[in-house]
Amino acid sequence: MALRVWVRSPRNLVILFLGVTFVLVAALGWLGSRLFQQDRALESQRVRERLEHAADLVAAGLQLRLAETEEALTRLSTVPASELPIASAAYVDGQLSRDALVVALSDGGVRAYPPARLLYHPVAPSTPEPARGAFARGEALEFRERDYAGAIGEYRRLARSDESATRAGALLRLGRTLRKAGRPDAALGAYDELAQLDSVPVDGLPAGLVARCARLEVLEEQGRVAAATREAGPLRDDLYGGRWPITRAAFEFYAREVEGFSRSDGEPVAASGESAVAPARALAGGVAWLWDATQSEASQLSASGDREIVWIEDRPVLVVWRSSAERTVGLVGGREHLEVDWLGELEPILVREGVAVALSDAEGHGVTTDTTGATAVASGATGVRVVRAAAETRLPWTLHVTSADPGGDLAQLAERRRLVTWGLVALGLLVLLGLYAVVRGVSRELEMARLQSDFVAAVSHEFRTPLTSMRQLTELLASGRVVSEERRGQYYDVIRRESERLHRLVEGLLDFGRMEAGALEFHWQPVDAVALTRNVVEEFQAELEDGGHQVVLEVPQAAYHVRADEDALSRALWNLLDNAVKYSPDCKTVWVDVERGDHGVTMRVRDHGAGIAPEERRTIFEKFVRGAASHTSSRKGTGIGLAMVKHIVEAHHGEIEVESEVGEGSTFTIRLLTEE
Ligand code: ADP
Repeated sequence: MALRVWVRSPRNLVILFLGVTFVLVAALGWLGSRLFQQDRALESQRVRERLEHAADLVAAGLQLRLAETEEALTRLSTVPASELPIASAAYVDGQLSRDALVVALSDGGVRAYPPARLLYHPVAPSTPEPARGAFARGEALEFRERDYAGAIGEYRRLARSDESATRAGALLRLGRTLRKAGRPDAALGAYDELAQLDSVPVDGLPAGLVARCARLEVLEEQGRVAAATREAGPLRDDLYGGRWPITRAAFEFYAREVEGFSRSDGEPVAASGESAVAPARALAGGVAWLWDATQSEASQLSASGDREIVWIEDRPVLVVWRSSAERTVGLVGGREHLEVDWLGELEPILVREGVAVALSDAEGHGVTTDTTGATAVASGATGVRVVRAAAETRLPWTLHVTSADPGGDLAQLAERRRLVTWGLVALGLLVLLGLYAVVRGVSRELEMARLQSDFVAAVSHEFRTPLTSMRQLTELLASGRVVSEERRGQYYDVIRRESERLHRLVEGLLDFGRMEAGALEFHWQPVDAVALTRNVVEEFQAELEDGGHQVVLEVPQAAYHVRADEDALSRALWNLLDNAVKYSPDCKTVWVDVERGDHGVTMRVRDHGAGIAPEERRTIFEKFVRGAASHTSSRKGTGIGLAMVKHIVEAHHGEIEVESEVGEGSTFTIRLLTEE
């Protein structure tokens, strides 16, 4: 009950509406944020599914490649030794682009395909060398008797031997002795000859390497630095190009020697700042690891073969091998090989699925160069990463699959979010607009209600004053106490005037009621505006009480005919005159004039009264509206006079206008079209 009463008040209704709106907007906001969350969860689910699918494809691709590799290695491990070089070379050509090699390990040592990719061998090949006794005589002359000439002669004799190993041993010693004998040029010649024997072993090392390095030393001793540098370059290339099957220790020793000549800053450096031979070193390390693994009795590894990621000097190396009774054949590949030959082959899948793949070992160390951040802790809005552990895929690596373009995934999300946000904003605006309309409507309603109640009060007041005076005068006359004939006459006159005023008031209200209902009928006929004005002014003046007001009329002699309803137009003019007098208490004159313009007649009522403020000039033509002038001078009135004037003038297709200045007075102008 109390609630029903509370709700009846428009102000409370607005408060209620505001509350409901607030709850609505809050609910909308909450719904929006829930929607975003759900959308985001859905999006990451979608991305995850895509990545899972891609991860399966990638794993399958890698498994296939691994199976093919193992099959090929099995085949190579069983082919006859004579076919091995050709078969291996064919496999390498077809499958390995770079940074990888195939090695065959057997009791006879290590063979690498292509040989140039193996910097050093785990073991030096055991090659027969001449018995040391062959050089015993020469060495006795050289070391014990210091008879260099004799030793040189002896070595020269041996250097003509048919056996290349003996020749090599002799030339090495010849060079050495010639140096000692202070004949460096001749020593250079001997070394040069020795270098021709190239891979023939001398003291367990290739003759070519030993001879060319010795030449560098001699040249340096002679101070021929330019010549030494010139020769060091090709020697370095051969050394790094795996020309001779040497052990790691020999390789490191000669590499240092050669670098001392060819360049002052050590090993060549790649753009990345890392040694350019680092990948080759890692491969050689991988081969050494495989050698140790397969040779060691204690090895835990499967006898038939396996696959492994080994770390050599911080570089990951993939080693896959198969063993047969004759030999073990292994593929040893570095990071680049993995990226180019393994992942590179899967590129079409990666592009199609829009994913990036990175490989890591079981501990999570990146095996491939991680440009995608896949192995890092996934960040970003969706941040989805799919991992396939090595144990799960039976691959040597753990796979990390991420979206290749997380920004692209997010763009769709952002687009949807933008749409929803705009939708919510539009909805919110609509609600606010609705709120504004309701508040405005209610306040108008309130204003109208106030105006109406003012109107009722004003009308009652308007009625009461003439009624009171009429009642008093009638009582006085009825009592017979007014003796003077003249006084009685005056009283009757007042009663007549008051009853006419009442009559006009009632007529006015009735007409206004009809106008409002659209039921007032106009009787159109040609009317002389000049005559009509004159009549109205005369009547009005006769009506004026003795307030001392006078109306100055300025009209032409001619008649201006307009099509009009005479009564209605007279009432409009009367209302304007009535206001002019009412609202100019200090200036006792008002002016009325009629003029003829190009198209019509202008009727003007002018006063020097209170004037009307600019903000009131539009509203005073609305019903029940009373302006500041009516309040300050507490003039009688109902607030419908000007509304009637406007209604009448508009029915005549005319215009009503007001010009006014507060404190200066006002001019109301009616323009009507003349009757042609
Ligand atoms: P009422 O005169 O009964 O108040 P009207 O509709 O005739 O109602 O006029 C509306 C208002 O316009 C008046 O209350 C008054 O404030 C203002 N007004 C009208 N005519 C004049 C005038 N000649 N001078 C100053 N104010 C005027």
